[in-house]
Amino acid sequence: MKEFELINHYFKGRGIIRRDVELGIGDDCALVSVPEGNQLAVTTDTLVAGVHFFEDIPPRALGHRVIAVNLSDLAAMGAEPAWVSLGLTLPNADMQWLEAFTEGMHEIAEYYNVQVIGGDTTQGPLTITVCAKGIVPAGKALKRSSARVGDWIYVTGPLGDAGLAIEARKRDLQLEPQHYKAALEKFHFPAPRVAAGQVLRGLATSAIDISDGLLADLKHILHSSHVGAKIHADKVPMSNALRSSLDEDARMQLALGFGDDYELLFTVNDNNKNAVETRLKQYGVEPVCIGQITANNGDIQLLNQGLPYQLTGQGFEHFS
Ligand code: ADP
Ligand code: MG
Repeated sequence: MKEFELINHYFKGRGIIRRDVELGIGDDCALVSVPEGNQLAVTTDTLVAGVHFFEDIPPRALGHRVIAVNLSDLAAMGAEPAWVSLGLTLPNADMQWLEAFTEGMHEIAEYYNVQVIGGDTTQGPLTITVCAKGIVPAGKALKRSSARVGDWIYVTGPLGDAGLAIEARKRDLQLEPQHYKAALEKFHFPAPRVAAGQVLRGLATSAIDISDGLLADLKHILHSSHVGAKIHADKVPMSNALRSSLDEDARMQLALGFGDDYELLFTVNDNNKNAVETRLKQYGVEPVCIGQITANNGDIQLLNQGLPYQLTGQGFEHFS
């Protein structure tokens, strides 16, 4: 199949059409309109076979995941996703693979009212780059740089499941089948916190999505905001699958150190604490308060049941 045939078959005329897209796939550029009073939020993430996913990942999951991780960045800024473009590098044009991949991609794009407006297709080792664009009212984006001492630190959901799925496979851990299945489903089909991000706009003081691990991503907020944090490890939400599968130290390493779950981490001041909880619950999100911002520049004070706590060993370094 030639490049243009492939594009025509799998991308052109598929997926939703937005009214703000004057020109989608088919010309040298797409043309879109950003509504007045809004800013364009733009993000790019690349997934490389063997680095970010196992080569035998189901293609439908890969199509979902590559869109999800990009929408998660938009969510972390409080932006509403609108358009994506897709850089696709394929070792060969496997029709069955492409059918499932594009199905996974279009499913999640449609769910979030996102139009695929263009891309590029080349031959080479399997690599997928998505550039996602969203809109956010001017000046209202959630940044990493505005957490303040005394703010409460929240996460939007359980952490460590993606890590459990990956470690189980890499280390051949013998998990209960239903726990492995649940963790793998979370890794394959992460749900970006798109609604939560927009709810947090105007309420949270800062936000980030947890892609590299709770502590690593929290550090980005601390450095940008010139503050520190106290974190209660025992408050960090974990799924039943993770709790049932690993001992406390191993679970903590995954939930605090792994990432890939794409929950949001955000800070909120005392005045807006209740409002944030109430509003997020209206959207089916159960935010959990795990700590507080301190003045100790860049430092994370980690506690477990009120006592100083350290993550042990390097048993679970990131998939690389
Ligand atoms: P050009 O040579 O001008 O870059 P291409 O032949 O690469 O054009 O692409 C033709 C059209 O198809 C463009 O509108 C481009 O955005 C779109 N396109 C190419 N590859 C993809 C893809 N993988 N997904 C979505 N759109 C694509
Ligand atoms: Mg091109």
